[in-house]
Amino acid sequence: MNVANILKIKGRGVVVEQPTTLIQDVVRDLAERRIGAVVIVEDENRVMGIVSERDVMWAIANRGAACLTEPVGNIMTSNVITCSESDSTTRIMEVMTEGRFRHVPVVADGRLVGIVSIGDIVKDHIAAVEMEANALKTYVAG
Ligand code: AMP
Repeated sequence: MNVANILKIKGRGVVVEQPTTLIQDVVRDLAERRIGAVVIVEDENRVMGIVSERDVMWAIANRGAACLTEPVGNIMTSNVITCSESDSTTRIMEVMTEGRFRHVPVVADGRLVGIVSIGDIVKDHIAAVEMEANALKTYVAG
């Protein structure tokens, strides 16, 4: 499987925010949508950064709850690792493990076209293992 297959199943919708959005509004969005991260974009859906629940937690731990009224651009990670639709799920697993993050935005022609989370990758991996096990069972039984 590759990233394009995953996007076909889960869709291409990504929750995005501007860097000027207040952290408290991003927190509300994360909670209401039950997601772990939002991508920060500038004009024409170009990726500027990513903010996950961990960034908010670290900011509150370091600076206190007053930081919630700051713009999210203050706490976003600017050096975002992205992937393309042709990347394999095995490659994304490696990237997430090496970088110790759980979200990878998908970019095509410099624009955001989707996002892959660790949950999507685990789901894909379990499906592949089950398929292999069933094929082996059929082979042994036959
Ligand atoms: P996460 O595991 O996705 O909650 O993110 C953990 C940390 O890694 C946070 O500081 C995120 O801003 C950062 N992060 C998440 N995804 C990426 C990514 N694709 N590239 C770079 N940093 C990321």
